[in-house]
Amino acid sequence: MTVFGDLKAKPVINAAATLTKLGGSLMPPEVIAAMQAASERFVDLEDLQRRVGARLAKLTHNEATYVTTGAAAGIALSVIACVAGQDRAALQRLPDTTGLKNEVVVFKSHRNGYDHAVRMTGVTLVEIGSETHTEPTELEAALNANTAAFVWFQGAMTGLGDFPIETVLAICSARGVPVIVDAAAQLPPVENLWRFTQLGAACAIFSGGKDLSGPQSSGLIVGRKDLIEAIRPLGSPNQGFARPMKVGKEEMVGLLAAVERYLKLDHAARLERDERIVAEWINLLGELEGVRAARSFPNEAGQPHPRCKLTLDSSARLGTQALIAALWDGDPAIAVNADEDGISLYLNPMTLNDDEAHIVAERLRVLLDS
Ligand SMILES: *Cc1c(COP(=O)(O)O)cnc(C)c1O
Repeated sequence: MTVFGDLKAKPVINAAATLTKLGGSLMPPEVIAAMQAASERFVDLEDLQRRVGARLAKLTHNEATYVTTGAAAGIALSVIACVAGQDRAALQRLPDTTGLKNEVVVFKSHRNGYDHAVRMTGVTLVEIGSETHTEPTELEAALNANTAAFVWFQGAMTGLGDFPIETVLAICSARGVPVIVDAAAQLPPVENLWRFTQLGAACAIFSGGKDLSGPQSSGLIVGRKDLIEAIRPLGSPNQGFARPMKVGKEEMVGLLAAVERYLKLDHAARLERDERIVAEWINLLGELEGVRAARSFPNEAGQPHPRCKLTLDSSARLGTQALIAALWDGDPAIAVNADEDGISLYLNPMTLNDDEAHIVAERLRVLLDS
């Protein structure tokens, strides 16, 4: 920790999630080794992107893949590929989309901070439905000659009044409209790397820096070859729309190493470990005055892993907000997620090693013991 120590930046124990604001995830040795090796030699960057993409396509059972600087960049690039395709002149005019198909349809219930990545491309976002309800006929009515794509956001926003993705895919495919799936945090399960595209999505997008534990500034687009080919001339080293989203050779090979590792992980054992930690937390913390501890499933991103939900009543030694602040103000800081209800908080084992899981429990015990 000397780097953070030199800067007097306080280390954080992350019991929240793979949050960008906390640094996302930690890179395993295989990823660091690949990045280190890549940092020591020059290479033809475009050729490397092609070769890494081909390897990742094979590994993820997809037609093609492209490494980006993150899932948000992947959203923007996928939209552009749907808007301008192989039209070189149009690609160079972006974000001016005059004369192009430039409407992207989205559920109103899916609107979220990441949809700026759609809007920055110059398209118009067409919302359908309400925050709580959407009908297939509303999707049918929204599709027209100007529709470039439909964007489906998978995560906490999914299920808030939308109908299933299969129905979206059926309606869109009948009208020749590509469906882009933002699946940034949808690993695990590992099968999602090919599930959305096998269902019929034109492409799916993943963060490299969440559970994949690749470079923090990496992301992956998997899907149709023609869309990936449309993206290539826009991305670094070419001076197109994606030049400000430059992907380094280190990120490319680092993400490849991360995916190779991820496919080999014993995901059942990971789940078992998380269940064990959550059960231990429930046992220990449920004993404390004014604290109700329960297993919560799935987690905030919809991943099939458990968390421990702590709900405090007025007999607890601290209120929820005071507890969250005390955890953060400790040394090391402990980050947890608050529930929307304002009286609960969640402990997530996925971003903790076993020692840290014990430290979190012990700190809570000290803070809440009456
Ligand atoms: C995390 C996340 C993103 C952004 O991913 P980055 O790799 O950090 O760019 C986009 N969409 C959703 C739904 C996410 O959860």
